[in-house]
Amino acid sequence: MRTSIASAGSMDPRSIEFPFRLHVPRTEGALADLIRALGFSCIRCGECCRAKSGDEHLVLVSPDEVREIAVAGGGSWESVAEPFPCFTPHGSAGSHTFEWCLRREGDRCRFLRERGGFPACSVYLSRPWICRTYPFVLEGEDLLVYPCPGLSRAEATMEAEAMAADLLARQCFEREEEERVRKVFEGSPLPQGRVVIDGDGMKVLHG
Ligand code: SF4
Repeated sequence: MRTSIASAGSMDPRSIEFPFRLHVPRTEGALADLIRALGFSCIRCGECCRAKSGDEHLVLVSPDEVREIAVAGGGSWESVAEPFPCFTPHGSAGSHTFEWCLRREGDRCRFLRERGGFPACSVYLSRPWICRTYPFVLEGEDLLVYPCPGLSRAEATMEAEAMAADLLARQCFEREEEERVRKVFEGSPLPQGRVVIDGDGMKVLHG
């Protein structure tokens, strides 16, 4: 669904169809203005850290992000991340996927805790780009907006500039990671077994 900036700023989040997209000039200032017009201010509700159905809110992470979370106290690679659950068959006995996602426990991110009765991320300073920039994604010339109780808030937000800068940085980072993955994918034959292809290489899963 595509909407206008004027209508987006005064929308009722309960009646809108998500995700919606807005065309946006690709400058940090214009992005920040748009985020401010959308009335975004994170209220730390933790809704984006929980799934409402099976593959919802999977948090995709790059190898660098997995390592950063592991160093920040997340534990081993396996305890931080699991393969993206959509595998494509190849050869006679192989299948591959291109992504890792943060592990969940039940319907929630395994790093979601409670502090003083409120949701809190236990690896907040090392959280991945998807978490830093929720509920927004830059896609081509559009800003995609996902459901979030932090939208349409009346109070002025101080987060708009930081969010705009993070969105642009995320886009650069993801383009670079995509290029690394493309080179790995095209650079050598796919091995048998279940394989995760990421910017580091091809990892055959055991077990
Ligand atoms: S980004 Fe939105 S859904 Fe996530 S914690 Fe903040 S207000 Fe809640």
